[in-house]
Amino acid sequence: MKKLFFDTPYPEFAQTLADWGEPSYRAKQIHSSVYQHLIFDPALISNIPKTLREKIAGMYAFESQSTLRKVVSSSGLTEKYLFELRDKAKIEAVLMRYRDRNTICISSQAGCAMNCAFCATGQMGLTRNLSAGEIAGQVFYFAELLKREEKQLTNIVVMGMGEPFHNYENLMQAMNLINDPDGFRFGERRITISTVGIIPMIEKFTKAKRQINLAISLHAPNNYLRDQIIPVNKKYPVFELVEAARKYANETKRRVSFEYAMIDGFNDGIEQAAQLAKILRGMICHVNLIALNPTKKYDRGGSGRAAINDFQLALEKSGIPCTIRLARGVDIGAGCGQLLAEYKEK
Ligand code: SAH
Repeated sequence: MKKLFFDTPYPEFAQTLADWGEPSYRAKQIHSSVYQHLIFDPALISNIPKTLREKIAGMYAFESQSTLRKVVSSSGLTEKYLFELRDKAKIEAVLMRYRDRNTICISSQAGCAMNCAFCATGQMGLTRNLSAGEIAGQVFYFAELLKREEKQLTNIVVMGMGEPFHNYENLMQAMNLINDPDGFRFGERRITISTVGIIPMIEKFTKAKRQINLAISLHAPNNYLRDQIIPVNKKYPVFELVEAARKYANETKRRVSFEYAMIDGFNDGIEQAAQLAKILRGMICHVNLIALNPTKKYDRGGSGRAAINDFQLALEKSGIPCTIRLARGVDIGAGCGQLLAEYKEK
């Protein structure tokens, strides 16, 4: 199999060209054609000699994935993609169009090992980690798609399949590639990584002092409830997790987001809101409420609007900023691994 260009570090690529006897400016030319002009076919890089284009095409692959399925929500604003990687592993990614923004949600692993009770990806298990180039490749795919519409990619959330902090090194390398000042130049402040709460990795991420936003999938304010839906809570319990997040907020001065899926009659009462407010008190943070998106193997449903509103009000009264997120793309099965789950059933 050809090497994926996105997985080739620039110095290595420059060395290859030097070994081929190419002048030193060539590597830079090609690097900017790919990452700034988003040309993913060497045959179309017009400012280099034809023989070199062919040599590069013979050595590197520029496509990390192909599209197996694409579904568009009834509003036309959310598009969900099922991609197949070169070894046939499958991942999902979502494009969400807003009036003034275009956000993508990308995957960090094929499948996931965390096995959260309500998550369709977790119900499938882990296939493998994605390489840095495969993570970034999803970003380049959508950037190019939007460019053809004369639009721009504005935000990236790593909230697709997988636990990003179980693939930390490749993920950070992907972030470097996306952020590269000589390349794609995407600002870290417009990227959010969501983790189930792998504490040692949150600590490592804190020390890295990057500008990337951190989101934590909390979903419950105590161990009794969180243990029932998130198996890894036994290893990294609520209080320790919240303290790791607090340290992150204190040291980086960046606001942490807590994701909270509202599950009907389970974690959506006023008592839970009060408990959540209590453990988060004093932290630079924000809570995102989203109604649970029902999945096949989990028998509880999402909370009703009234419960969500009351929960939000209770949090805000206690001084915790809180937004209600609209579940986007639920009508197209764009909620967390559902597209692949459906594809497999057919
Ligand atoms: N593993 C990472 C990122 C992937 S999941 C994490 O846990 O954060 C992205 C978000 O979707 C997480 O907050 C996850 O808990 C949530 N999620 C998964 N399945 C869901 C469902 N059925 N309904 C609502 N949110 C869900």
